[in-house]
Order: sequence, then C-alpha cells, then structure tokens
Amino acid sequence: AHHRAAFELAAVGSVGGKLPLGLKRKRLRVVVTGGAGFVGSHLVDRLMARGDSVIVVDNFFTGRKENVMHHFGNPNFELIRHDVVEPLLLEVDQIYHLACPASPVHYKYNPVKTIISFLRLRSSGSLNQLRFSNLASYTIIMFLNPLPLICFQLIVSEGKVPSMWLFKCLNSFVHKTNVVGTLNMLGLAKRVGARFLLTSTSEVYGDPLQHPQAETYWGNVNPIGVRSCYDEGKRTAETLTMDYHRGAQVEVRIARIFNTYGPRMCIDDGRVVSNFVAQALRKEPLTVYGDGKQTRSFQYVSDLVEGLIRLMEGEHVGPFNLGNPGEFTMLELANVVQETIDPSAKIKFRPNTEDDPHKRKPDITRAKELLGWEPKISLRQGLPLMVSDFRKRIFGDHSDSNP
Ligand code: NAD
Ligand code: UDP
Ligand code: UDP
Repeated sequence: AHHRAAFELAAVGSVGGKLPLGLKRKRLRVVVTGGAGFVGSHLVDRLMARGDSVIVVDNFFTGRKENVMHHFGNPNFELIRHDVVEPLLLEVDQIYHLACPASPVHYKYNPVKTIISFLRLRSSGSLNQLRFSNLASYTIIMFLNPLPLICFQLIVSEGKVPSMWLFKCLNSFVHKTNVVGTLNMLGLAKRVGARFLLTSTSEVYGDPLQHPQAETYWGNVNPIGVRSCYDEGKRTAETLTMDYHRGAQVEVRIARIFNTYGPRMCIDDGRVVSNFVAQALRKEPLTVYGDGKQTRSFQYVSDLVEGLIRLMEGEHVGPFNLGNPGEFTMLELANVVQETIDPSAKIKFRPNTEDDPHKRKPDITRAKELLGWEPKISLRQGLPLMVSDFRKRIFGDHSDSNP
C-alpha cells in the first residue's frame, strides 16, 4: 500500500503535466522493458530528457546496447540484462512494457536450405554473440534450450550475412515472452502499485475485414497460422492486462501500434521499410512481395513515442490505435524509397508470405479525441531521417551514432 501512496504522490505532479507555478514535478521511476530496442530506446531518450529515473530491462534479443549507450554514466539511468519471462523485483512508478521479439517477418519465410545446429545456450545474450559468414541462401539455425525446451529459429536471408540478429525465434519463445513476460510485469505492477502500459499491435486485427480498423473491431486472426504466436500472443497480453485491471485494480494502458519506422530499426530484420531502405542504399533491387498491392500505414517513431507518453500520462485505459493513417501499397512505398534514395533502384517481385494481411490503416479518432494526439510526420518527411541513420550504419560512418 505504501508503494501505491508513493505513486499517487508522484502522479499528482505528473499526470497531465499541469502543475501550479513554481511546483517542481516529482521525478518518476520508470521501467522500460525492451528499452534497448528500436521504439524503446527512443522512448527512453524522451523520459531521460524530462528528468525521470529510467530502468531499461532487456535481454538484447533484438535490442542493442548501442541504442542506449549515450545514457551510460547518467545516475538517472540503469540498464538490466534480464529476460522478462523470469520474475523481476523492482520498486517503480510506471512500467512501459515493450519487450517482445517484434518482427514477425522472420517466421513467415519459407526456408530453402537449412543448417541445423543444436546449441545449449540460454536465450538471453547468447544470440548476440553469434556471427555468421559465408552462408549462402536461407539458413536456419535451431537453438535448443535445455529446460524448458525452447527452440529458436535463426534465418539468414539470401546470401546476406546479417548485422547480428537476422533471426526469428521459433514461435514458443514469442508466445512465452508475450504471455509469461506480460504476466510477470503485471505482477510487478500489482505488487508496487505502478501504472502499466502494454505495447500491443495492429496485428491483433489480423487480416482485417473492417477498414480502416477502429479499436472496437475484434479482428480476424488465424489462431493456428505462422504469425499467430505474435498476433495471439499480443491478444493474450491484452486479455491479461484487462484482467489485472479489473481483478487487481492495476492501472493499465493499452496501445495498439501500427507499422513504425525510423532510426535504430534493425537493418536486416526483414520488415518492409528497413528492407527497402537497406536495399536501395546497397544498390540492390527492392523486393516487393506478392503483387505489391497490399497496404500498410507507416508511422514515424517520434510520433509513436509522443502517443505512448500521452497515453501513459492520461486518464484512459484504451486500447488506443497509435499509427499514421497515411496508407500506402508496397509498390507506392517502393516508389517513395526510390524518390528518396535512388530513382534508378530496381524492383524485384517475390512470392508473398503466408497469412499476409491485405490492408491495414488505423482509425485514430479515439486517440485524437481522448489523448489529443495525432501523428505529425509524413512518410516523405520521416524517411530521409531514417535513411541517414541507415547510411551511417551500413557504410560505417559512426560520427553521429545516437540518432
Ligand atoms: P525491437 O525488437 O527493436 O525491440 C524489442 C526489444 O525487446 C528488444 O530490445 C529485445 O531485445 C527486447 N526483448 C525481446 N524479448 C525479450 C524478453 N523476453 N525479455 C527482455 N527483453 C526482451 O522492436 P520494436 O519495434 O522496438 O518494438 C517494441 C514493441 O512495440 C514490441 O512490443 C512490439 O510488439 C511493439 N510494436 C512495434 C511495431 C513496429 O512497427 N515497430 C508495431 C506494432 C507493435
Ligand atoms: N512477479 C514479478 N515481480 C513482482 C511481483 C510478481 O515478476 O514484483 C511475477 C510473479 O513471479 C508471478 C507473476 O508476476 O509469476 C504474477 O504475479 P501475481 O502476484 O499476480 O500472481 P501469483 O504470484 O499470485 O500467481
Ligand atoms: N514486404 C515486402 N517486401 C519486403 C518485406 C515485406 O513487400 O522486403 C511486404 C510484406 O509482405 C507485407 C508488408 O510488406 O505485406 C509489410 O511487412 P512487414 O513485415 O514490414 O510488416 P507487417 O506484415 O507485420 O505489417
């Protein structure tokens, strides 16, 4: 109970940001799980900039120390290597729960060739130490964890040696992180009376039969498909979040994030924006899957971070769609990338992956009305910011490594 009291004290000074003149806002203690990842690290930058005390919890599965290294040495910053599947004891006011292997792309691939090796490695950290060279075509490496048995599937795309983590865990790990990881963080929130924000996803709408998607839509998800560990994992995470809210009075917030891009995205994780940008920079053809007429809506990362903070600080549970309603076919996206990087870049068509949603576009009426939020950065404005970061990382110019 005293933790809850402490939180309320802190919250008085924070929620809504409206303070009587001269009153200083109390420093919040904030945990960001997955804070070394793409979205998490940008969120951490914003929280640090406003003077909060930030603890990043990450197992570096897809995240990188480089993303948060510029905060090392700051007494308000702490980085803990930890897998959220294991329980965690901390005393905090807010929990942003982002930890999740977040690129469903990899388990959608159909491997052509496979190399299987069995490594008795723990999940946390072990993958980061692996380097691959001279691997042609698709390669899958399976990691077996002794107890319980967890399989990891690692995919290296078409002769390209990935920077570090072109892999996809086999579905049990994605599901376990979403379910057990979320349960643990909710248990933590309950114990200390912290406010908990879940980063769910537009994937909960599956291959949507309603367009654009509003939060009231229950979705069209294949429960036994190749992407269902992610989609259903996040759906279960939402269920747990609402159960802890209703059953244990935990203060919760749910964001449903639509496709987001920006600096620090994994270069070779197979998502469409990172693929196209990396391909254009490397003078390779842009790989358009299927007929390229499927649509997505792309949001720049700073818009998302603004939405997440407003949601956490606001009074509404959600769920809230956080995405940019600007809708593009993959062919249109390829054209924007050509215009931005290299008008002579070629396009190569490839077979599409299984269960690929045909279209996706957020209805953000609810976020506009209740959070006063809407994205500000269009694809044509945001893409160049990501391109300069990718250029530096691909061609090795590290003069400004903290975009
Ligand atoms: P990311 O892969 O860059 O970041 C995820 C982070 O979580 C990584 O740092 C990873 O190491 C960490 N992580 C994974 N499993 C973990 C575990 N078991 N324990 C501790 N840490 C773990 O991905 P992102 O794009 O930054 O995504 C962040 C969140 O936003 C995810 O929950 C994702 O599902 C959600 N989301 C992202 C998008 C998008 O387009 N980027 C869209 C919808 C939802
Ligand atoms: N948990 C945690 N940190 C905490 C409190 C709980 O990681 O500070 C974990 C705990 O190990 C459990 C989960 O959160 O697996 C759910 O906790 P809760 O108290 O809700 O459930 P119970 O332990 O009673 O099953
Ligand atoms: N896609 C593509 N070329 C690529 C990678 C992906 O055309 O190199 C397509 C993919 O088939 C999907 C869309 O781009 O229709 C978005 O894929 P991504 O994996 O980025 O996101 P998600 O499917 O999770 O929305």
